[in-house]
Amino acid sequence: MSTGEGLGIHESDAPALCVLASGSSGNCAVLVVPKTEKFARRVILLDAGLSPARTGKLLHARGIRPDEVDEIVFTHLDSDHCHSGWPRAIRPGSWRATLRIHRMHMSRAERMGLLYTRCEPFDEGFCPAPNIDFGVEMLAHDDLGVATFRIRIDLEDSTSVTLGYATDLGRVTAGLIEHMGSVDVLAIESNYCPDMQLASSRPAFLKKRIMGGAGHLSNDESAYAAARMAPGEHLVLLHLSRECNSPETALHAHRHHGCAVTVSTQHEPTGWVCIRAGESRPTIRTRQVQGRLFQRPEATSTDP
Ligand SMILES: [Zn+2]
Repeated sequence: MSTGEGLGIHESDAPALCVLASGSSGNCAVLVVPKTEKFARRVILLDAGLSPARTGKLLHARGIRPDEVDEIVFTHLDSDHCHSGWPRAIRPGSWRATLRIHRMHMSRAERMGLLYTRCEPFDEGFCPAPNIDFGVEMLAHDDLGVATFRIRIDLEDSTSVTLGYATDLGRVTAGLIEHMGSVDVLAIESNYCPDMQLASSRPAFLKKRIMGGAGHLSNDESAYAAARMAPGEHLVLLHLSRECNSPETALHAHRHHGCAVTVSTQHEPTGWVCIRAGESRPTIRTRQVQGRLFQRPEATSTDP
């Protein structure tokens, strides 16, 4: 297991991701794309499920001020991805980020008071900067769905690197696997161990919601997806359930990937994971991965 490349200020000239927190008590990651001769520095939050104060504190420890955050991009607006404090926090002189919200989530954003801020809806994709491109694939999650992102960052030397970010996925679809294929760094949820889920004291409706194809991915489903997406450089596991998973169990399911693996947690940020061009590895269609893989044909052949 890797803990990333340093805990404090991001000093490398490579773009980098730090998961500040991930889990049902709040999800937030920060993506820093350093300044180059051609392009300005960009700081982008992926989800904002921590309070503005806590987010500010964690960013401060990484040398980032609130007014340096350019964008907050939401996968969806559940309270663990969009903290209720944000509508009031965004104002001149403090947080000034543009909020990026999928069009399907805009009526919910209006009810939450988010439209008083600078808010840009997106559909299939958007470019928050000339060198950064977000490709979007929507997946099933509760009623309104969840946005997953393939983020391409163009570098000074005309090459590019890619980050995949996917959490709160009802199930793995062929569209998702194609969307995330061969990214350099993949951050994907690995929410629960089915045995622990079934043995837990949670009510039956909650277990059904989580495991029913519109909730979260199990460790094996996540490993199945990640093996097919074949990240070249680094794999980051997101949104582990505290009650129904453990870092060791999640790592065990993901033991066959040929890249570094970082497990994010609810209470401690990961180190900086640099987004560098990884070794180009063939996806599962042309490569035999060792060990038993999760098979759920009905889940991969049917898009939501
Ligand atoms: Zn969530």
